[in-house]
Amino acid sequence: MAWNVFKFCTGLKVIGSVMIVVVLAVVGVSYYAVIIFNYAPHLIKGGSEAAIALIVVILFHVLLLMLLWCYFTVIFTDPGGVPQSWWPSPIEDLENQTTPLASTVSPPSGPNVPMVAQGPLVRYCRKCSHFKPPRCHHCSVCKRCVLKMDHHCVWVVNCVGARNYKFFLLFLLYTFLETTLVTAALLPQFIVFLSDADVEVVHPGILATIFLAFVLNLAFALSVLGFLIMHISLVAGNTTTIEAYEKKVSARWRYDLGPKKNFEQVFGTWKLYWLLPMYAEEDLRKMTVLHGLDYPLRPELDS
Ligand SMILES: [Zn+2]
Ligand SMILES: [Zn+2]
Repeated sequence: MAWNVFKFCTGLKVIGSVMIVVVLAVVGVSYYAVIIFNYAPHLIKGGSEAAIALIVVILFHVLLLMLLWCYFTVIFTDPGGVPQSWWPSPIEDLENQTTPLASTVSPPSGPNVPMVAQGPLVRYCRKCSHFKPPRCHHCSVCKRCVLKMDHHCVWVVNCVGARNYKFFLLFLLYTFLETTLVTAALLPQFIVFLSDADVEVVHPGILATIFLAFVLNLAFALSVLGFLIMHISLVAGNTTTIEAYEKKVSARWRYDLGPKKNFEQVFGTWKLYWLLPMYAEEDLRKMTVLHGLDYPLRPELDS
């Protein structure tokens, strides 16, 4: 297909770091509406509503902490570039030779020309002047090749790739949970504002803030839920957004190792770390896939 859905990403660079300010502004508005205006006063006042207020206040802060931790980890983690020293593996099928590709094949001259030498497909990026490791794609916003590139995300002002994909997914998860909590926590207040005549006693600025917080969080919760569901299905099939767009639907995906192993390839094998934006040392040492250069194939292909 000639039309490339990812081309619009080129314009995203203009938006840049403004999106971080937007995210922090939404957090600020939500914090005021939920904690300062609504639940902290209930907590201080005590009484029957204090117990619910305590739960909301604790949950809000825990989710916010996790959300911001994941958010800034995605922003500041390099998704993975191609090391200068990287070179394609030997082409084993090439007349049963074990000679490295470096001594048998020269870089092609065309743009992104795939080289098929009776075996694995080796791709070359003319913009970066190097071979591409498997699952690597050139990002037109970052102007470099990114390992296991998923997409360039305007919200995190970074590419999402091999080394920060898990952190991005956790950011989505905590954003969904936090925005759902805020929406639910503000719903009673919102209904009162819509139906009660006493609404006039509330300052118009506060009313606008509560209204804005409710609408923004509801919109974020719904859109992030859709995005989250899409990424859950991508992780289950060991596919990136770009690969899902490119690959043939009929053929079974060569990196599909089954749902459990596919999940571990993104989240690691240590359950304790699954909900944290980090990996266990042992996983980083043993799982080459987390570094973005080597990916195991389905058993029937990996022979
Ligand atoms: Zn490139
Ligand atoms: Zn990028």
